[in-house]
Amino acid sequence: MRGKWQEVLTDDEKRKELQYVGIFILLGLVSAFMTVLNVITHKGILTISTAVFAVLCFVNYLLVKKGRETGRTIASILFSIEIFLLFLFFLISGNPDGFSALWIMMLPACGMLLFGRKRASILCAIMFAILVFFFWIPAGRSLLQYEYNQTFIMRFPILYLAFFLLSTLLETIRFVTQDELDKMREKYRYYAEHDYLTKLLNRQGLEEWNSAFTNLGDQAVMMIDIDHFKQVNDSYGHDIGDLVLASVAQRIEKEANTKVCRWGGEEFVVWFPEEKNMCDPERVRAQIEKMEINIPNSEKFIHVTVSIGVMRGEGELSALVKAADEAMLLAKNKGRNRTEYHS
Ligand code: GH3
Ligand code: MG
Ligand code: MG
Repeated sequence: MRGKWQEVLTDDEKRKELQYVGIFILLGLVSAFMTVLNVITHKGILTISTAVFAVLCFVNYLLVKKGRETGRTIASILFSIEIFLLFLFFLISGNPDGFSALWIMMLPACGMLLFGRKRASILCAIMFAILVFFFWIPAGRSLLQYEYNQTFIMRFPILYLAFFLLSTLLETIRFVTQDELDKMREKYRYYAEHDYLTKLLNRQGLEEWNSAFTNLGDQAVMMIDIDHFKQVNDSYGHDIGDLVLASVAQRIEKEANTKVCRWGGEEFVVWFPEEKNMCDPERVRAQIEKMEINIPNSEKFIHVTVSIGVMRGEGELSALVKAADEAMLLAKNKGRNRTEYHS
């Protein structure tokens, strides 16, 4: 059930997975490395905390890999709890030598990657409030197990805040760029699959639509060709020809009540994935014959007719179209403005 464009669209999925997997691998490896360092330097409780965090990163990684969308949601909730507990422990214990509080600087970048701007900003703001409480408010400061020096206590929350704002700015730029790319992708996707003049599907669009189906049974194809269209161009000019084309296209779409493809110049293909849903080709032909296409700024009306070839049955779309084309040529040979069925 997927064509080329669907694959492109899943790029977004891939990017998200990469962000999550990337963070958990990176933090897991850093924690594992720090655990080894802590073992060598006999850091006791710190060793346990980094080891537990490394294992949790691995668990989160598995959740994302195995659980996809739900895995990511669970992993992100777990991660925010884990990282808060770890950083709180780092901050209060200050173990070793007040250094571990510096790891808190990782939160804005990690948060933006995992949660996007809004939720990350809330998380980061909460962390800022925690820093202010422990560093700048006497009640909080009395809870600290480590005697940070005055300069650090005064300046660290400000450094954190600056980094938080910088991360928000970077994420905003990334978000805007991504949004532009998504819009552009949608736009080019539309133009790659549609005909500019009639707004119908083009051949590529029909192929994409067709490739989205897997188990096709009996289908139906109508090939519709405007009769003596060259005369319209010759008599009224190319612009009026374009207008007639667009008007006929619109009418076919309305009557067929499904997607219609502009197969070539003045030829249209209507594909019905299920034969039983095919509209009445004779009705389409008769409705077009009845059309009165007004020439702009004049009292004149143009009338056109079409020849229609119909093919019903199983098989590849290209083969069905070829057969419908043969039936259409038969209709031309039999005098035009008629419908022929491929036998
Ligand atoms: P027939 O009944 O045998 O189909 O005759 P016809 O004149 O319709 O067929 P023919 O293939 O001889 O000519 C098709 C014409 O359609 C020629 C071409 O200039 C015109 N045409 C193709 N695409 C466009 C278009 O986008 N705009 C306009 N105005 N004319 C187009
Ligand atoms: Mg024609
Ligand atoms: Mg033709």
